[in-house]
Amino acid sequence: MKNILFYSEDLAQVEYSPTHPFKPMRAKQMMDLLNRYGLLEDTQILEHPFLEEELLYLFHTPDYIQALKTCEHGEFDINLLTYGLGTHDNPIFKGVYSFSLQASGGTFLGAKKLAETDATFAFNPIGGFHHAMRDHAEGFCYINDLAIALHYLIKKGFKCAYIDIDVHHGDGVQSAFYDDNRVLTISIHESGQFLFPGTGFENEIGEGPGYGYNVNIPLLKDTDDEIYLYAFEEIVQPLLQSFKPDIVCIQVGGDSHKDDPLAHLNLTSNGYEKVLTLIKQYSGKVLGTGGGGYNLYKTSALWTLAWSTFAGIKPVDNFMGVVGGMMFGPEMDAGSLYDNPYHIGGLTKEQCFSYARDVVDYIKQTVFPIHKI
Ligand SMILES: [Zn+2]
Repeated sequence: MKNILFYSEDLAQVEYSPTHPFKPMRAKQMMDLLNRYGLLEDTQILEHPFLEEELLYLFHTPDYIQALKTCEHGEFDINLLTYGLGTHDNPIFKGVYSFSLQASGGTFLGAKKLAETDATFAFNPIGGFHHAMRDHAEGFCYINDLAIALHYLIKKGFKCAYIDIDVHHGDGVQSAFYDDNRVLTISIHESGQFLFPGTGFENEIGEGPGYGYNVNIPLLKDTDDEIYLYAFEEIVQPLLQSFKPDIVCIQVGGDSHKDDPLAHLNLTSNGYEKVLTLIKQYSGKVLGTGGGGYNLYKTSALWTLAWSTFAGIKPVDNFMGVVGGMMFGPEMDAGSLYDNPYHIGGLTKEQCFSYARDVVDYIKQTVFPIHKI
């Protein structure tokens, strides 16, 4: 099988808390859509295995892992705050350690299958915890499944590109490979001026051997498909052409969408699909994960499009607007995975475009020469 999907019913049921915005349930909604649109042919569906503890140390510190282990029973201790555990964003809940091991186990096995078999695409919707740091939890993320999988792949000798289209800067993955040229790390996001984690500016381009191998494309809030695609095509396309990765790892956060309640970019499903198609053109094998995305229906629809794009299977809609006998999602959206076109205009458009042009020019001047572009 060329396409591998990770799905575990028990993992999709996990909640950080009833009011916490991060919902693994999006994976179940995605499965409903994949079934509905006939997208699971020729697909191997695997349960998430638990990651072996020793693999955590490919990225995380033993102290942090010990602290996270003590959270397994859901008991708070004031000392855990040192590790970012027990905060509003990263609550301590019963089973948090096993949840993290299982979620990251999917991403890791995906990487292993791409490395060892003829599989060309592996997707873990309950993965993409790009904010988790070496020694602390951050931004809804406890274990950085992406950093662990990428460390494994580069140890095996693969050249990897990491592309992060979540609306938030992928700061944890950046920190993992900031001085390493074996991973070309690219994050395109709403500027840290306005949004968590407050980093990811265009001048953060790596250090030491990794100088020029860390690329950030911050964008102004309100940025729409047209401006996003301009920046993406100008920067990411030439970099992928020049770097020629063996494996591309992509974090498909759904929160760059215009209907996301926690952020302020204005992408539609059309913009997402174009970006994903462009990445596919320059990628041999693809390891995909979910990520953020707090409009739950939209996020599962975007992941369905990501699946369709990378798996190379076109959606077929035999059941217009109905899943399991019930209307699914907002009625007007339920019949299609696609949004109507959406454009901003006037002064806002000019400001967003001008900001994007400055960022693109800066990267062309600083990063491109290192890659002989
Ligand atoms: Zn996000």
